[in-house]
Amino acid sequence: MNNNMSFESQTAQSSVNMVFCRSCGSQIRQEAEICPRCGVRQLPPPTETLGDKNRIAAGVLALLLGGLGVHKFYMGQVGKGILYLLFVWTFIPSILALIEGICILVETDAKFARRLNA
Ligand SMILES: [Zn+2]
Repeated sequence: MNNNMSFESQTAQSSVNMVFCRSCGSQIRQEAEICPRCGVRQLPPPTETLGDKNRIAAGVLALLLGGLGVHKFYMGQVGKGILYLLFVWTFIPSILALIEGICILVETDAKFARRLNA
């Protein structure tokens, strides 16, 4: 009984940093770049999916050129960028971009990543 309980808590602890291989499904360490079992390269964890999108650059673009939707194009949200361009004469995009720029600059990289995927 006791042995069983300690075994369960051990697996719960060790599984915190474990993920499943995207190819063969075997449990591997979260930090593992390549699955030791099948040799398939794993995708980076969600917090590192920013790629070449720099949060500070996006925030500065929003503050300086946000009225033209430049930061939206930079963040890969072309549709929203075009909307900003279409309504630039109303100055509403400038106000939105100012708020967005401040939010982007003060938020964490993880939040910015979620914003990129929104
Ligand atoms: Zn594998």
